[in-house]
Amino acid sequence: MTVENLSRRHFLRGQFLTSLQSEKVKTQGFQGIRPPWSVDEHHFTQNCHRCGDCITVCETQILIKGEGGFPEVQFDHAECTFCHKCVDVCQQPVFRPLTELAWTHKIEMSNHCLTLNAVECRSCEDSCEMRAIRFKRQIGGVSQPQFVLEDCNGCGACLRSCPVSAIKLSLIQQHQVEKTND
Ligand code: SF4
Ligand code: SF4
Ligand code: SF4
Repeated sequence: MTVENLSRRHFLRGQFLTSLQSEKVKTQGFQGIRPPWSVDEHHFTQNCHRCGDCITVCETQILIKGEGGFPEVQFDHAECTFCHKCVDVCQQPVFRPLTELAWTHKIEMSNHCLTLNAVECRSCEDSCEMRAIRFKRQIGGVSQPQFVLEDCNGCGACLRSCPVSAIKLSLIQQHQVEKTND
């Protein structure tokens, strides 16, 4: 293969990876979500050996080899059950105690939500076992979703239930959760 062909191949591969990442951002809100109970990003990438054991044991197969070979969560076909098999199998110091919150991300809704456009839809409510999404009746209009962030565990089940991908994940600080529930 010529040098020219090789660089073209690298260029196309780069474009392919970029488009994959953009797709993930589109469906999840941000990329590079580490497995539940992971330590901070710096400590994680310093200590994870990229062995892939967590990916192999994940019962819903939401863990994939992401950028640099590090495990990442992809919620496009399933959610996290919090079985903590990924934590149990890992030999490296990259996980926090299971008594702590698994993630600091929560859901947020974009203005693509059908109910904001006067179309009846409650798909996300049905997908949430935690009942973190509730609908409030509107006089003369369609019911609107209300997110109870305190109850959201970040499992990701609602993401793929939305027909217009209006639900995303975002990192949220604890005080913001408390403020939302005042
Ligand atoms: S099992 Fe641990 S060390 Fe191996 S890839 Fe997963 S997080 Fe990294
Ligand atoms: S807790 Fe279970 S379902 Fe969730 S990422 Fe880990 S192995 Fe997969
Ligand atoms: S991420 Fe999980 S817990 Fe949170 S609202 Fe969606 S389905 Fe419910």
